[in-house]
Amino acid sequence: MGAPDFLTGLDAAQLVGAAWAAGFAPPPRIGVREWADTHRRLPTKGAGEPGPWRTTRVPYSGEIMDCLSPSHPCKRIVFMKSVQSAGTEMGNNWVGWFIDTQKAPMMIVQPTLDMAERWSKQRLAAMIEDCPTLRVRIAPSRARDSGNTTLVKEWAGGVMVISGANSGASLRSMPARYLFLDEVDAYPRELEGEGDPVRLAEARTTTFPRRKVFLVSTPTIASLSRINKEWEASDQRRYLVPCPECGHEQPLVWDNLRWPDGKPAEAVYHCAACGIGIAEHHKTDMLAAGRWQATHLERDVPGFHINGLYTPIGLGLAWAELAAEWDEAKKDPARQKTFINLRLGEVVADPEEKLDPDDLASRAGNHKQRDIPPGCLALTVGVDVQKDRFAIIVIGHGRGGAMWVIDWTELPADPTTDDGWQALDRWLAVPFTNSRGLPMKPLMTAIDSGYLTDNVLAWTRERLRRGVIAVKGASTPGKPIINRPSKLDVTIRGRTIKHGAEGWLVGGDTAKSYLFARLAADGKRVAHDRTVGFAAALDASFYQQLTAEVWDPNKRRWIKLRPRNEALDTWVYALAAAHHPAVRLHLWKEPQWARLEAALEPATGDLFAAPATEQSSAVQKLGAGATAQSAVVAGRRARYHIQRA
Ligand SMILES: [Zn+2]
Repeated sequence: MGAPDFLTGLDAAQLVGAAWAAGFAPPPRIGVREWADTHRRLPTKGAGEPGPWRTTRVPYSGEIMDCLSPSHPCKRIVFMKSVQSAGTEMGNNWVGWFIDTQKAPMMIVQPTLDMAERWSKQRLAAMIEDCPTLRVRIAPSRARDSGNTTLVKEWAGGVMVISGANSGASLRSMPARYLFLDEVDAYPRELEGEGDPVRLAEARTTTFPRRKVFLVSTPTIASLSRINKEWEASDQRRYLVPCPECGHEQPLVWDNLRWPDGKPAEAVYHCAACGIGIAEHHKTDMLAAGRWQATHLERDVPGFHINGLYTPIGLGLAWAELAAEWDEAKKDPARQKTFINLRLGEVVADPEEKLDPDDLASRAGNHKQRDIPPGCLALTVGVDVQKDRFAIIVIGHGRGGAMWVIDWTELPADPTTDDGWQALDRWLAVPFTNSRGLPMKPLMTAIDSGYLTDNVLAWTRERLRRGVIAVKGASTPGKPIINRPSKLDVTIRGRTIKHGAEGWLVGGDTAKSYLFARLAADGKRVAHDRTVGFAAALDASFYQQLTAEVWDPNKRRWIKLRPRNEALDTWVYALAAAHHPAVRLHLWKEPQWARLEAALEPATGDLFAAPATEQSSAVQKLGAGATAQSAVVAGRRARYHIQRA
């Protein structure tokens, strides 16, 4: 770096900074708090107050920044926070201090690579622009050979990489002594084949004995929240502030902010000791006189928690505004949860539909895989295509929405080859026999066409009349379990071909909610009242995959806890098949079920009216089988409708 190029128009302090950059003098031992108070300027663009950073403006930030400084022995720092609590600015102060004073590698992780780019171009660029000491260190990225791109910043002795938690490659890119994990609750749970992105990034720090890892986030729901797990494992510090009346030191808790019905503007904070109502204008003094207190002194990971009540006056919502927002949020459970996460910085309990794989496994019945229990009168199949296998589920259906997992397999095959598809055909051709020894055929088979679409359509095109349909997940939420089909085969003039391939849109989130609600309700029932049955000896991975997702009420969508979820996806397809307009099992009335039952599970009196000893069971089966075939109208109707479609 050519130091003289940067010296024009700089003051003495900046000259010293430039001198370090050129390697003339060792950096002084300045902490993050002192650096921020001396050098950091908050950007003029964006929210908040522009101008010099003052730790006294956000008094609870001082100790957090002290922990980020080398003079503090800790290696991990956890900050669980509400929005508008300056958490990211503390991290940014750390970044600025690092660029200015350290000769080491640092990694900053944002939830995605896109967000990493945005953070670099907006937050980081503005910080460098506004701090003269940083400007002399980091050459503008337009300069050639500046060692300076959006995601990598290099300067004499130091390097900083900005990565996305959705990219294993970026997380593995280099060893780092300092690691800033921003908004960890928005990270993917797991990266396919690489595991937890936080562990992956932290593994890059282990060679540095004096490393620091800073984890910051607003929390989400219990099973998804990393920051809450980290907080629970930390020494759990709360910021105590003194009551202006009695002097009692206490953490600010939401229950003690109170207001008369319908008058949130009159909200005041009630002291836990003397009960007096404290008006918000006291807050500035209370924060200044506050201190952090740990509840688990034996632990060596400092963990800090801040809720919206602490937000310094003018930097976020006032108490009265929080009260008004709460009055609104109370009316809607989803908004209430969002308020608890974002404003109070607290985790919310899992939705009822959160399922435990071991609990589901313990519900497995006695029927073996491919056995069809009494009462199971119809079958549908769901197939998912993976690059080296087909995942296949066979779901049985009975009255009142009863379902059984009849069979589940992951069939190794190459779906880019004819051999692969023939293997699927062979598997699907193996007949099912019910408890009376009568044959049963699936009414419909739904296969996902999201991957290898052309191969899937080629296969379904030939099998439409046999009740095989291609399905595709709808991209918008709230769609019906199965929607209208789109015609995918067109003539050279662009007209759709009547009997050509078609794809049915599946409302995956709707189907998952339907299924999880049933499974959750079963959890409260005794075994013989349950509506969903599992074959015995389904392997553990089946239950892991089935419970691989959880509903996030904030994002209002299903979130993967684990990368493998084919058991759940295939069940969704089998459910879509059952709801297909040509089948509509969910709309069947009792006469239809009774007719099917009479055919498939005839009363023993009908079959064995004559002394049965002399009768060949083969003859019985043949006769009953024929009755069943004629009575299983649904299968025929399915084929009929598909032919018409
Ligand atoms: Zn008091």
